[in-house]
Amino acid sequence: MKFAVIFEGKVCSVLLFSISLIVWPPPAVSQPIPDRMLNRMDTDGGGKISRSESRGRRRPSGFFDTDGDGFIPRQEIEVVSGDGGRQRGRRRGQQEFRRGNEGVRLDGEATIDVLDEETLCGIGRGRRCDVKLYFKRGLIETGLQPAFPKGLDCPEIDEAWAIDYSSKRDREAYHGGIDMPTPFGTPIIAAAAGTVVAKYEGRNSFRGREIILRHSPGDTGLPVWIYTQYTHFETMPKQKIGQRVKMGEVLGPTGNSGKQRLSSRRPRRSAIHYAVWFSTDPRYVPLRRKVIPVDSYWMDPIALYRKGPPFDSNSMKALPEGEKQVAIAVMTEKGEVIPAGAKVVWPYFCRRGFSLFR
Ligand SMILES: [Zn+2]
Repeated sequence: MKFAVIFEGKVCSVLLFSISLIVWPPPAVSQPIPDRMLNRMDTDGGGKISRSESRGRRRPSGFFDTDGDGFIPRQEIEVVSGDGGRQRGRRRGQQEFRRGNEGVRLDGEATIDVLDEETLCGIGRGRRCDVKLYFKRGLIETGLQPAFPKGLDCPEIDEAWAIDYSSKRDREAYHGGIDMPTPFGTPIIAAAAGTVVAKYEGRNSFRGREIILRHSPGDTGLPVWIYTQYTHFETMPKQKIGQRVKMGEVLGPTGNSGKQRLSSRRPRRSAIHYAVWFSTDPRYVPLRRKVIPVDSYWMDPIALYRKGPPFDSNSMKALPEGEKQVAIAVMTEKGEVIPAGAKVVWPYFCRRGFSLFR
């Protein structure tokens, strides 16, 4: 009788263990984060883990969704299963990035461990990050306006920097770049000389096909490291990770790639989404779905054309109204740079004479 009880206990344990195998670990593919899954994650073996508990463990609220795509892949779940798991999980995410990106290791490339929590959330914008950290890292409206050279036709911004984008997402969101609509196929060009640090197919991303360039102070003549991001390509840019590009080099054709909010009725228009970050630290961390420069800040892309610091959004916002018009340097399709000698140009060619953009 006593034996039977013990035996039954074992059967019970085996059953529970089998069930836990079915439930845990979750499949390696990305999947949405249901709250009940978070609640099920029992890191200390005794209770349940909730969002507030994870904050209590002195991890940033956005930690689960480290790449900010609204999905939680397995390594992100592992991150909460102990410190060893945290490091292992973060590194695994990077290894996957390298495998998917020709396995190169580049100058300045760092591992996620070196990111402070404010940058990780303020730039990474994980689903559970506090939006106040976005603002702290410069994602605020500045009032800057582009002023293009006279006699040239340049694609203009239709969705401005840092506007409230919450209606386009299912959470509070702000536009981390500027959009310029142009016809399908319009070439997108490198704003400055630089190095390709990431490319993403973006099948599950709002940004779609994307390339990110890193520009040294020597590339731009500016005293900071600049990162420029170009998205929604019709086809993937041909440049490889690690490749040097020239200012004005064609990266690829404008498209409308990237997922849309389910409730949107019309297909996305063809346009570039153009974003800029800066940092005094030369290091950056390539993740599976985004690049986060170490100790970096958002830059209103128009501020990049001011030819010198300050660039930070608070300073831009505080400029007198007369200084908010920024003269934009551009390149024509023939390679003419206006004004001559500029090291940073608009990410589309400008054309003389009649308009092809409108
Ligand atoms: Zn955009």
